[in-house]
Amino acid sequence: MDCLFCKIIAGEIPCTKVYEDDFVFAFKDISPIAPVHYLFIPKAHISGAAAVTEENAVIVGKIFTAIAKVAAREQLDSGFRVITNNGADAGQTVPHLHFHLLAGKEMGWSAESGV
Ligand code: 5GP
Ligand code: ZN
Repeated sequence: MDCLFCKIIAGEIPCTKVYEDDFVFAFKDISPIAPVHYLFIPKAHISGAAAVTEENAVIVGKIFTAIAKVAAREQLDSGFRVITNNGADAGQTVPHLHFHLLAGKEMGWSAESGV
């Protein structure tokens, strides 16, 4: 499949990995918008939040468990934000479900994410 994030998981495109287990992979965003900006993705290809179903939804819990582990490991005690963009209006650019973990600065709040 011609998917950028599937290629990153497969090691065909380099990345800076920050977490991996049997189901979840996480790496540094190539264009960070906060001091901490990681992407958490399922190893199985899911095109985005709109493609989450009763059958595959367990992966979302696994991703959030991974996020909690990394937040604890990196002592993000003053806070962090998790964002997923779905579709054109939200600015999704990679059609493989991903959750942005943002931290390391005080963030505002708006529909444009406020970061
Ligand atoms: P989206 O805009 O779809 O919510 O998020 C996609 C994210 O992937 C963007 O923040 C972008 O910087 C990041 N990204 C795009 N291509 C690459 C890449 O080749 N490597 C890494 N590490 N991040 C990427
Ligand atoms: Zn993919």
